[in-house]
Amino acid sequence: MEGEAPSDLSSPNGATTRFRDKGPWPIVLWLLAMCGLPILLAWAVLTLGVRWMGNAREEQTASRCMDRLRKLGQAFNAYAADNDGLYPPAPIWVDALVKYAAKKDPEEQSESVFRCPVISAMRTGEYGYAMNDTLSRIKKGAANLPLIFDSDLMKRNAHSGLESLPNPPRHRNARENFAVFEDGTVGAVTRGK
Ligand SMILES: [Zn+2]
Repeated sequence: MEGEAPSDLSSPNGATTRFRDKGPWPIVLWLLAMCGLPILLAWAVLTLGVRWMGNAREEQTASRCMDRLRKLGQAFNAYAADNDGLYPPAPIWVDALVKYAAKKDPEEQSESVFRCPVISAMRTGEYGYAMNDTLSRIKKGAANLPLIFDSDLMKRNAHSGLESLPNPPRHRNARENFAVFEDGTVGAVTRGK
């Protein structure tokens, strides 16, 4: 009885024994290489693609915002030229600029030029730009302060100091807020500036 057991464990077929010795791993590795790599590549391409599209959208919105601020800067200058060089009163700046911005922008019927595109895309009736309070009814100064900027204040005619700049910032993946400065240039602005 004891002598029979070992003969059961050893296969009479040499080829089968060799196959069993290697186990299922070569096939698993082969399957992983053939299926896993393409899946990994597809995932990487998809992830990069989604990120690229997100960045492209961020960049498009950022340039639309800056374009609107540039138009607002021109409207401020036009208003000042008609009003002894004075900027409009901050509490009514949108009302004061409507006719000047309207000349520049045919889509002005909806006052879109007074709305940051990020805000107007999400919530109709909200604006998201504020006029710098310190420039209300004064003449253009040498300091070249921010005139209109991205703001957490959503109402029409919103006005404040730079403390209402969105935090985290609104544009370019939460890295930048924009403003138009007194000299008409448009660019990133921070609370310290
Ligand atoms: Zn904006």
